[in-house]
Amino acid sequence: MRTAAIIVAAGRGSRAGLGEIPKQYQMVGGKTVLRRSIETFLDSGLADLLVPVIGPDDAGQYANSAPQDPRLAAPIAGAPTRQGSVRNGLAALADSNPDRVLIHDAARPFAGADLITRVVRALDGADAVIPVLPVASTLKAVTDGTVTATVPRDGLFAAETPQGFRYALIRDAHERAAAAGKEFTDDAAVAEWASIPVRTVAGDPANIKLTTADDIAAADRRLTMEAALKIGDVRVGVGYDVHAFGPGNEVMLGGVAVPHTRGLIGHSDADVVLHALTDAVLGAIGEGDIGAHFPPSDQRWKGAASEVFLAEAAARVRARGGVIAHLDVSYIGEGPKVGPHREAMRAKIAAIAGIGVDRVGVQATTNEGLGFIGRSEGAAAHAVATVRLPFSA
Ligand code: MG
Repeated sequence: MRTAAIIVAAGRGSRAGLGEIPKQYQMVGGKTVLRRSIETFLDSGLADLLVPVIGPDDAGQYANSAPQDPRLAAPIAGAPTRQGSVRNGLAALADSNPDRVLIHDAARPFAGADLITRVVRALDGADAVIPVLPVASTLKAVTDGTVTATVPRDGLFAAETPQGFRYALIRDAHERAAAAGKEFTDDAAVAEWASIPVRTVAGDPANIKLTTADDIAAADRRLTMEAALKIGDVRVGVGYDVHAFGPGNEVMLGGVAVPHTRGLIGHSDADVVLHALTDAVLGAIGEGDIGAHFPPSDQRWKGAASEVFLAEAAARVRARGGVIAHLDVSYIGEGPKVGPHREAMRAKIAAIAGIGVDRVGVQATTNEGLGFIGRSEGAAAHAVATVRLPFSA
């Protein structure tokens, strides 16, 4: 094996002021900080094996931070100190015995493939490599709230992770540092103590360490905004359908069988609600109508459960990289009463479309005895679908 990565995620994040949930398990842009860090390494393609080191009591929380990937090993239990956690991770790699190991803090979810590549490439000619950034601020030595000196910042750099090492060298250095009772704040310091020369590559200012509740909130806002902009092309479609009443003892409305004194007549199951919704979704993405995709002349759709129509329309939205933001439908008929079945219809429509039930509205009205609907010759449905597509579509 060539390259392994250790993701250090055992800290309790006591500085973050985030309450019960450690910062690596906080959500930013719909994913945990830890999951983003893990995915960064998996997506880079530069790590053959990934070992997360987590708090001994965090196995339950870890579950939704672990993407399915054969390169991701089962999590290792950490230690009370960061250095101890890294040592556990290094020990867990003994059997794999990689050439090199990247050690990364889970609280830096924005490392990026370019930065990881710089560290890995530089390891070809070095035993230890860390990414660094020049210190931009003027540095002051302060005692009791008063400046005692201005510290020259020439030659001073801030260290980031991932830090890369020859595996055998850093493992030995960590074991010896532990035996000597030495505690350091990063792995490069362990290497320095063991007289391993540490080379530097350019860090990335975007590779920030999420430390405080404000850091987490700012990252969450930025990622959420980026995601919203990606699929911010809002489309609205309308749909309308009518079916005639005929003999029967129930009608299908929104995929729910509703008892009635008559039935609705049609080529499929005559579910006006799902038919109107299907046309609304297809209209929102400009992909024709229900008749174009499911022609009544096709015997496959004779007596079909209409949920296949709406499911297909929803699949077409997903295929475009979009989402259905909202579905709203009104049933117009002199019975049956929809009220008692409204929640079942909302749940069924949501399940068919693959969206949350809070994104589905169902209304019903009579036609006040007027016209063909008022004479109970048939029933109708109007629907509106709001869809969000990527701007590139
Ligand atoms: Mg129809």
